Amino acid sequence: MVEKVISDFVVHGLSSIVIYPNPYRSKASEFSWETQEKLDYSIASRDGKICWIGKAEALSESVKLTSDAEVISGRGLSAVPGFVDSHTHLVYAGDRSAEFEMRVQGRKYLDILASGGGILKTVSAVRSMSEDELFHESKERAWKMIESGVTTLEIKSGYGLDLENEIKILKVVKRLAEDLPIRIIPTFMGAHAVPAEYRENSDKFVEMICRKWIPAIADSKLAKFNDVFTENKAFNVEQSRLILESGKKSGLIPKIHADEINVIGGVDLAVEIGAASADHLLKTGSDGIKKLAGSGVIPTLLPGTSTFLMESHHASAREMIEAGLPVAIASDMNPGSCQFYSASMIQTLAMLQLRMSASEALIAATLHSAHSLQVGNMTGSIETGKSMDLVLIEAGSFRQIGYRAGDNIVNMVIAKGIPVFSQ
Ligand SMILES: [Zn+2]
Repeated sequence: MVEKVISDFVVHGLSSIVIYPNPYRSKASEFSWETQEKLDYSIASRDGKICWIGKAEALSESVKLTSDAEVISGRGLSAVPGFVDSHTHLVYAGDRSAEFEMRVQGRKYLDILASGGGILKTVSAVRSMSEDELFHESKERAWKMIESGVTTLEIKSGYGLDLENEIKILKVVKRLAEDLPIRIIPTFMGAHAVPAEYRENSDKFVEMICRKWIPAIADSKLAKFNDVFTENKAFNVEQSRLILESGKKSGLIPKIHADEINVIGGVDLAVEIGAASADHLLKTGSDGIKKLAGSGVIPTLLPGTSTFLMESHHASAREMIEAGLPVAIASDMNPGSCQFYSASMIQTLAMLQLRMSASEALIAATLHSAHSLQVGNMTGSIETGKSMDLVLIEAGSFRQIGYRAGDNIVNMVIAKGIPVFSQ
């Protein structure tokens, strides 16, 4: 007789679960888009990790429940991996609705900047807010994302743009990680914009980031990744290289905002430096896609942003998928260029704007996103040994996620084996 698996938490009798039969593990060349739906399955976990997946009818002969085990009925529900939002600027203050309206009316970004809008407006709002206020405001926002199914959330700094305020933001991220039941991953992005006080001498700002800020952030262990906005009027390739190299020396893993508005060499730098991901890629063409293929850099597409900015052109997801790239998608949640926060809405937009299939959008929002944060070995798919991070949806198939746009079909969110939200 086979020895039973011991479990303290079970979701029993699900209508369907989604399995990636050949999950890509460490190299970009070893992934698969394959998706299988298993009907009438149960999933068991112990101490927050999945320990058994099987037909519901086999549960009692395969699993021994601990005396305090919790068993939840999955009747009428489907389970998908917890969503991984791998690119957000969630910790911010203030409101930019006026700028949104100006853009809708056709005003150009530079006009908006001249009338006091843009990133620098958020910077002054963040600088004038206390750590406590920023924490409470951001926590409310994070809960909305959790309720949409997010169980792993990356958050970038970058609205402080001086060391004191960048640290304040990263401390807020640390408090969110301690306070919230999900996995939160911090990214330092001091090079988000050139602050007004350095507009005439951005090299000096870059030097300060490299020499002072990065060592301070790394020493206090406030960030895992180091990100830079490589773009005209932000940071050129040389400056970006200095920032990412000095981050690497301090143990921060490089990420990059590349090819959002102009192609100036961000993708080349991402490949050269071995970035974990290159994000946006709105303007990346065949050349860039060829460079990314086989490089290990995960392309992260942000269809919420190109929609919110009313771009007529969206990232070339189809060409990337055909070139064998493990495309990830994320929200880019921020006050200026994307107020879409719902993980299922981002999958809807990936289907509508990027022409991805329902299963491509789901894998992009889970497993590939997890790999872009280098946590693909612990979350992003329903597999034994991984964290019990699940979204239970009120549908017979995951194909309803993108389709039922505007309808929150999330019934329950489970993070690390604990139900953290239900409705
Ligand atoms: Zn961003």
